[in-house]
Amino acid sequence: MTEPNESQNVVVLGGGLAGVGCAHRLGDEGIGVTLVDRNDYHQFQPLLYQVATSQLPAEDIARPHRVIFHDYPTVEVRTARVTDLDVAGLGLTLSGGEKISGSHLVIAAGAQPEYFGVPGAAEHAFPLYSVADAERLRLHVQELVREVSEGQLDQDALDIVVVGGGPTGVEITGALTELMTALAAMERIPKSGRIFLIDRGSTLLGAFSERSHKYAHKRLTEHGAEPRLDTGVAAVHADRVELDDGTTIPTRTVIWGGGESAAPVVQAAAGLNTGRGGRIDVQPDLTVAGHPGVYAIGDAANIPAKHGPTLPQLGSVAQQSGDWAAGNILRERNGQPTKPFHYKDKGIMAMIGRNAAVAEVGKHRHQVDGPLAFAAWLGVHAMLLSGAHSKADAFMSWAWDYFERDHAATVEWSATPHRIAWGDDAADVPHISVHPGRSATKADSS
Ligand SMILES: Cc1cc2nc3c(=O)[nH]c(=O)nc-3n(C[C@H](O)[C@H](O)[C@H](O)COP(=O)(O)OP(=O)(O)OC[C@H]3O[C@@H](n4cnc5c(N)ncnc54)[C@H](O)[C@@H]3O)c2cc1C
Repeated sequence: MTEPNESQNVVVLGGGLAGVGCAHRLGDEGIGVTLVDRNDYHQFQPLLYQVATSQLPAEDIARPHRVIFHDYPTVEVRTARVTDLDVAGLGLTLSGGEKISGSHLVIAAGAQPEYFGVPGAAEHAFPLYSVADAERLRLHVQELVREVSEGQLDQDALDIVVVGGGPTGVEITGALTELMTALAAMERIPKSGRIFLIDRGSTLLGAFSERSHKYAHKRLTEHGAEPRLDTGVAAVHADRVELDDGTTIPTRTVIWGGGESAAPVVQAAAGLNTGRGGRIDVQPDLTVAGHPGVYAIGDAANIPAKHGPTLPQLGSVAQQSGDWAAGNILRERNGQPTKPFHYKDKGIMAMIGRNAAVAEVGKHRHQVDGPLAFAAWLGVHAMLLSGAHSKADAFMSWAWDYFERDHAATVEWSATPHRIAWGDDAADVPHISVHPGRSATKADSS
């Protein structure tokens, strides 16, 4: 084991939207940063369902940290798994045993799928939290389609159960129904697989307004999805799902969008005040009470909200909290008091399929749907992507094309989906590895 490396660098755990936002701001000011992530790339979760349904290649939503910080000489990127946090010593331990510490520790380790103890879910369900998860699901569905089209499996092998009627569940359900419709229209499969969407609540998109609930429900059912509300999942098996109303749905594919909790390394850390979802309860200025110099941001943190208990796990919250934590670290270094985080609310939005989206924006959560909602989605997500990519226009033109195109006529069920024209060098491809097993996210993030 090497000796502790006590540098004046700010140590950032996690290169997601929160960690990258923090390191960018510090790097802009010439502050030394050591950013540690187990992956050599940053991943853009809002487009995971596009990868899972073969509409985008995984490389298009993953960007190497090395490339993101190419012009930031004071930001050092380390690709390593962190096994332990030392909040008292402002440091962390890497899987090889090396310890790193600095002037501040910023915890931006994100989240993991939460299965709420449902028997069989961790073993058999497909989570959708990382590009590896999305790739794994894509390969699984592609294989089922091949076997059905070659007559090796019955048509009902394509029936899929999606758990969770929040934005993740609604988006993947919308994309899967379109994919099935398109495959059937092209006669690749005899008929569409059935897509069930299960939620314990009585509406889809629970955090949205009544109008959005109805819009999402109508659009999904029009496209053939089968929502089952007020119903919980009792158990997941390799070949079926048991529901708490006593019924069973035979399926080889259960997609878990049912919830998330803080990354395992956060939940296992000694001395941290964790609350809802195993996330770190932070103070209004994003610091951790009782641990001077420690910040927690993004999905790893419960960040106090002005209205309601805490801010939601959203890209804008992650990115802005990263930037704000950096601002407070700069203030501390200048001997100034830190400031409470002020979140600029961008609203909530979800894509339900091509030509279908809902958004609730502004102070009074004004509801819009259709192209207007998509434009709002695009603006917010282009902003989120800008941390990793400089070419927002490439994203915009891909996204408008996606939104407006008739999916059935132009399905990209092939190895060559319509790509985002990032124009990257061939050498700038991230190292995405799809580990065997269905819950590698959980294992990866331990
Ligand atoms: C399917 C899906 C769709 C979403 N869609 C939207 C959307 O449309 N709009 C929106 O605003 N938000 C959306 N979100 C939420 C949004 O993506 C997250 O809130 C945001 O990305 C969180 O950023 P983060 O930096 O806190 O965490 P993450 O992006 O998860 O980053 C955490 C990083 O920490 C690293 N890490 C974790 N543990 C370790 C360890 N032990 N060692 C080393 N590295 C580690 C991980 O590799 C990862 O890179 C979506 C989320 C999901 C899962």
